[in-house]
Amino acid sequence: MKTVDKILALIRDTSSSLPEDVEKAILAAMRREEKHSSAKMILKTIIENCELARKNSTPLCQDTGTLTFFVDSRLRNKVNRKVISEATRLATVKGYLRKNCIDSLDGKSYDDNVAEGAPVIHYVESESKDSKPTVTLIMKGGGSENMSRQYSLPDSTLGAGRDLKGVEKCILDAVVKTQGYGCAPGILGVCIGGDRATGYEIAKEQLLRNLGDSSKDSCLAKMEKTILKKANSLGIGPMGLGGKTTLLGVKIASRPRVPASFFVTIAYMCWAARRRTVVI
Ligand code: SF4
Repeated sequence: MKTVDKILALIRDTSSSLPEDVEKAILAAMRREEKHSSAKMILKTIIENCELARKNSTPLCQDTGTLTFFVDSRLRNKVNRKVISEATRLATVKGYLRKNCIDSLDGKSYDDNVAEGAPVIHYVESESKDSKPTVTLIMKGGGSENMSRQYSLPDSTLGAGRDLKGVEKCILDAVVKTQGYGCAPGILGVCIGGDRATGYEIAKEQLLRNLGDSSKDSCLAKMEKTILKKANSLGIGPMGLGGKTTLLGVKIASRPRVPASFFVTIAYMCWAARRRTVVI
C-alpha cells in the first residue's frame, strides 16, 4: 500500500470509528445511568450512531474537526506535508471529512481542507530507537475546542491560589462553565505549569492517552481520580441535561514554570474523541 493510501485509511478510520477505550467507557456509563433517564437515552444514541458510522465509513460527527498529525521524526521524508495534504484532499472528496476549513480573513472555504498550516503536523522524537515508527491522528471538533481554557494563578474570582488546591478549583470551574456546551461526556487534558503556548500543547497531548491509564506521577494520578469523581458528582451529565456522566476521563501532566507565572491549561475533548495510530 502506498503511504498516501495508508494516511487516507488512517483519516477514514479515525473519522468513522471511536477508539475502543472511549466506546467502552461510553457503554459502561450508559449502563450506570438511571433507567429511562435522558442521560441513558443520549448515551444509547451515541453508541448507535458510532456503530452506524463504523459500518458505513461515514463521519461519526458532522464536525470533522481540526486534524492534528503526530508523525515519528524518522518518517519526516516519507510522511511529509505533501503526502498528508494529498491524503486529506482525497479524504474530503470521498466524504470522510466535511469541508471544514475556512480562511480566517475572508471566510472563504478551502474546499479540500488543505491550506498553509492545515492540517497541523508535528514531527516528534520516538521514545525508543527499536520501536516501529508510527503516525497518530487526532480530530478535534470546534465545539469542544471552544471549551478549552487557560487560567493564570492566582485567580481571585475563584479564590484559587498558587497551589494544587488552586489548580483543582480551576479544573472544576472549567467543567462547570462547559455545562451545556461541548457535547458531554467529555475528557480533560490538563497541563499544570509551562508557558501559555506549551500549556495548550501539552494539555492537548494528554488527550492521546488511553482512558484506562493513570499518570506515572502518583500525585497527578491521585488528582486525576479525584477530579473525575468530583466532576461526575456535579450532576451535569451527557449534553448537560443531567446525569452521572459528565466526564469520561481526566489526564494531567505538569511542566516547569517561571516563578512569575502559574498557568493551568485545560484542553476539553467531547465524547467524539477521535484518535488513532498506525505503524508505517
Ligand atoms: S463538540 Fe464534538 S460531538 Fe459536538 S459537534 Fe463538535 S465534534 Fe461533534
